[in-house]
Amino acid sequence: MHGSMQYMENHFELRIDPRKLVPDAKSVITLMKNYYPAANQESNTPKIAKYAYGKDYHEVIREQLKEFLFELNKQIGAIHGRGFVDSAPVLERAWAVKSGLGWIGKNGNLITKQSGSFYFIATLIVDIELAYDDIFVKDYCGSCTRCITSCPTEAILPDKVIDGSKCISYYTIELKDAIIPQEMQGKFDNWMFGCDVCQDVCPWNKFSKPNNEINFIPIPKILNLTTQEWQDMSEATFKEIFKDSPLKRSKWKGIQRNLKFLNKLE
Ligand code: SF4
Ligand code: SF4
Repeated sequence: MHGSMQYMENHFELRIDPRKLVPDAKSVITLMKNYYPAANQESNTPKIAKYAYGKDYHEVIREQLKEFLFELNKQIGAIHGRGFVDSAPVLERAWAVKSGLGWIGKNGNLITKQSGSFYFIATLIVDIELAYDDIFVKDYCGSCTRCITSCPTEAILPDKVIDGSKCISYYTIELKDAIIPQEMQGKFDNWMFGCDVCQDVCPWNKFSKPNNEINFIPIPKILNLTTQEWQDMSEATFKEIFKDSPLKRSKWKGIQRNLKFLNKLE
């Protein structure tokens, strides 16, 4: 159900065996980084998923993982390892559950009882043995179905299966086609880059607290640019404003395509 995301088919053998990513791997350390923002977008702006308000998390967290490994080496001794953040065939959520951090909700996200699901998951695979945490065995979704019934494109299926090829995040970020399929017309509820609906409605996210990462402070334009201002933006201006932002993944062309789709211009 991954649509045109062919990369998801690749490297299965690496996904199931971290020793193929890090020779002599013995432990997986899972880290979570809060991205819940202190400020939200104004109501008339094309919507952007909260994880993308600030600087690109890949770059921010990659550097922090390197620092963490460096500190471990300083304090504990020689440790070889590699940090990953959504950049390699690593089953981050499964490792997070095994690390005792939370459960996978019906919306496919890792959820913690203490503070919900607005987190990036980073994984550090190292070659030393550690005192291991217990797997998180409970599931606190219970009879709740809010995410399933609220998903604008009916992408959440039973048994925690997400049809990635129907998700707004897929259409607005991953899909590289020039046109978004017409059968999705009218379903995006003004989401221009990603979608947070299945997290916003999750009752566990009432425990979310604003992050304190300076790099995730929202780019002001993200909070207040109107549809018209987005439409009028030149490619050069887009590149300048969003040079460190995850939005550059869609490129100016992709953003303009999404805007046209939202405003029924194609
Ligand atoms: S991100 Fe949006 S479209 Fe995708 S599964 Fe969640 S609610 Fe549905
Ligand atoms: S909205 Fe309800 S069913 Fe969905 S992930 Fe949250 S608790 Fe689970």
